[in-house]
Amino acid sequence: MLKPRLVLSACLNLERTRYDGKLVENPVAIKLRNFCDVISVCPEISIGLLVPREKIILYKDSKKIKAVEIFTGKDFTEKLISFSKEIIRSFPEIEGFFLKSKSPSCGVSHKTKTYKDIEGKYLYEKSQGIFAKQILKAFPLLPVVDEEIIKNKDELENFLIRIFALRRLRELKEKAKDKRDIISFHKKAYHLLMSYDPLSLREVERFLFSKDITFKESLKKYEDYFKRTLARPFSRGKQINVILHILENFSKHLGEKEKARIFDFIESYKRKKIVLGRIIRELKSLLQEKEQTFSEFYLELYPGELDGLF
Ligand code: SF4
Repeated sequence: MLKPRLVLSACLNLERTRYDGKLVENPVAIKLRNFCDVISVCPEISIGLLVPREKIILYKDSKKIKAVEIFTGKDFTEKLISFSKEIIRSFPEIEGFFLKSKSPSCGVSHKTKTYKDIEGKYLYEKSQGIFAKQILKAFPLLPVVDEEIIKNKDELENFLIRIFALRRLRELKEKAKDKRDIISFHKKAYHLLMSYDPLSLREVERFLFSKDITFKESLKKYEDYFKRTLARPFSRGKQINVILHILENFSKHLGEKEKARIFDFIESYKRKKIVLGRIIRELKSLLQEKEQTFSEFYLELYPGELDGLF
């Protein structure tokens, strides 16, 4: 499969950029390096800080949250914000962000401690890092996560599905020559999109087949539609509905035993014993056995080698 472009916190890319020079070994980040084109970023090193350095903490003064050096209170907020804006402008097209959790710069998941004092003794709240906030603001339709995601299988799988799907979208944008290319892409993306938002399929078909919209406008609209749809919540219920829909389409080619096999997998998926990728691979091999394969992104959500992450 094509490699998505992934922005990775430099310390998750096995670079010694942390304030204490320690190595961070995150199994997901390490594995993803083989399947993605990684852009490694350390906001703190990029604004001129060294290793080792004093720790930076988030501190809430009377007006706002700042990133300051612990004990001295030296303020790096503005430098971090302007670095973030500058690097955001310089990025090529990106499919996702995988950042370090709990960091005053990179933390995404509201786990970064914010203190009432510059010595970091009294907790004010938990929030997001300065760099992460700018990324979330600039890329509202892209998957932006931090390493906390490894604790939740559905969130991790959703992240993988989205970055590989967005990579396909980039390929469409680079290669499409006319509306037929968008329509043929859409046919392959059909069940994937249905698994995020079945109702959205009506919206896309209205503009995709309209003669009043030019190819360029269609491509722009399709990109926005595709990204918005994949940004909808991931749920096991919606995924099961799509699998049942596919099973129904192929029902006459499948025997009772084979259907029962898939239903067993669906049951395990419902009970959170397996992830979606496991059922999809089973479904795909069953359809292959029956010579009923169809070219669909839904049957190739992410590389099988990433199954080991779950
Ligand atoms: S968490 Fe972010 S700022 Fe801190 S060392 Fe890692 S990449 Fe650099």
